[in-house]
Amino acid sequence: MKVLIVEDDPDLAEGLITALKNENFIVLHAALGEEAKVRITQFQPGIIILDLGLPDMDGLEVLQSVRKTHADIAVLILTARGDLDNKVKALDHGADDYLAKPFEMMELLARLRAMSRRLNTSDSSQIQIGAVVLDIVAHTLSVNEQEIRLPKKEYMTLKILMEEAGRVKTKSMLEEHLYEWGETIGSNAIEFHISNLRKKLPPDFIQTIRGIGYTIKKADTSQ
Ligand code: CA
Repeated sequence: MKVLIVEDDPDLAEGLITALKNENFIVLHAALGEEAKVRITQFQPGIIILDLGLPDMDGLEVLQSVRKTHADIAVLILTARGDLDNKVKALDHGADDYLAKPFEMMELLARLRAMSRRLNTSDSSQIQIGAVVLDIVAHTLSVNEQEIRLPKKEYMTLKILMEEAGRVKTKSMLEEHLYEWGETIGSNAIEFHISNLRKKLPPDFIQTIRGIGYTIKKADTSQ
């Protein structure tokens, strides 16, 4: 889980970075609102810890811009303005949680764990790329909201490619994965599975990199 800390106080930021890294979060930091906006677009964090009192803008402005473009990012507001009015305002602007300074690091970490659990339950069961959704709990594929049944080996092949979207997988990498899952596969099996999968997927969803292997492009997240 990637967490972006938006906090201009260097000591507090450093303490947060250390504590979060210890909890195995991938941690990014921005000291300014403008910097935060850039990092959000660049790195797509799952959670943002957002200080309201930033040097270049009100943290609420960052929150508003996040809510316009990234509805799914969880935002925890961190601020010295601990009064009720500001708390209500932050929640009204779409914050998911609120913690007034000074706070106990233990409490912050507990809230982050809860947020990341909530995100994971909705995130990890489905991989979506464009109109294609693979449910890795129910083992189902849907394309344009039409459910399609997949034989086990096709499902596994597609799962690897979608999980590692943006990377090229060679035929032998795919074969190895299937072996790891206890599947026996004959020669040309991968070509066969890919060709069957292509009949069920949007055109060019699985791309052939000539002489190397196969890849699926990552979803365009720029919009
Ligand atoms: Ca501040």
